[in-house]
Amino acid sequence: MYGFDELDKVGSARFAWGPAALVDLCIERIRSLRGDIGGAVFDTYLSAQKKLSEMDLPGATVVMAAMRAPLFEMPVDAGGRTAYALVPPTYIDDKALIGKVDAAVENVFGKATPIRAPFKTLAVLLGLAKYGRNNIAYVHGMGSYVRLRCYIATRQVESSYPAPIRPLEKDLGSDYLSDECRGCDICESACPTGAIENRGFMLDASRCMTLANEDAKKLPGWYEKSFSHCMVGCMRCQEACPMNDGKLQRIRLRSGLDKDQAAWVLNGSDDPEGRLEAGVKQVLKENGMSYLDDVFARNMKSLYNAGRL
Ligand code: SF4
Ligand code: SF4
Repeated sequence: MYGFDELDKVGSARFAWGPAALVDLCIERIRSLRGDIGGAVFDTYLSAQKKLSEMDLPGATVVMAAMRAPLFEMPVDAGGRTAYALVPPTYIDDKALIGKVDAAVENVFGKATPIRAPFKTLAVLLGLAKYGRNNIAYVHGMGSYVRLRCYIATRQVESSYPAPIRPLEKDLGSDYLSDECRGCDICESACPTGAIENRGFMLDASRCMTLANEDAKKLPGWYEKSFSHCMVGCMRCQEACPMNDGKLQRIRLRSGLDKDQAAWVLNGSDDPEGRLEAGVKQVLKENGMSYLDDVFARNMKSLYNAGRL
């Protein structure tokens, strides 16, 4: 078994841990919010989260990792000029960094199983992050451009932070909101849909573009053409937030759409032999975005119509 200094050797990541029972408390809180956040949103994003007892996964410690995550720019040949479709942090896995973090967690905490869980709530309860008014978790020193990962581990260790073991209030209480948010409404002004209301760090998830454009269903009526900002997701409130100043790292993807592929995606140009479709699928595969295949063309058209390509 290694010491906690093993975690310091992983660059671009921070960690926090506490008793495994916190996972079940967080799941109970999320379930209590089903009526507030809308059944459809809950069923799509949150219903797969299970309590430890329901997973039959005994464990002593919950470990949260926050890894720096860059913004990606995918090149698109838009008829003789190169434009870039933005792909926000976390939509493309940094497998090397995830592998390093997995190994370090296992070295320190014993057998560690990654789980689906209320990542943001756990990160906040463990003192790793605070909420912003946009319901995003801001990790101390890293901002919100992070990938959160959660593990249940076998080794019992003292919490890295005095996490409260008690039933959680629905709104968690104002202690969990970043101090920087007090008196600030920059993200609310930057959000074109009105999703950020004056409700602490709760969001009107049914009006958030991220949730709408990740879903292959028809975009909702309130989703105006001019709103589109990224190939998937949104980022507007995070880009505007002063807590993220100077923290965004950009990576330009090597693989992108050539002129013919872009014309097929954006204008539905002829593709009798399926060559263009196959090429576009290959681009998505090379970029680790094949799972976005069913929303890709629709979202790219939205971006184009919004004048962002
Ligand atoms: S923009 Fe202001 S209110 Fe919104 S999350 Fe950032 S600091 Fe908080
Ligand atoms: S991600 Fe976009 S739509 Fe959602 S709250 Fe932020 S700015 Fe608004």
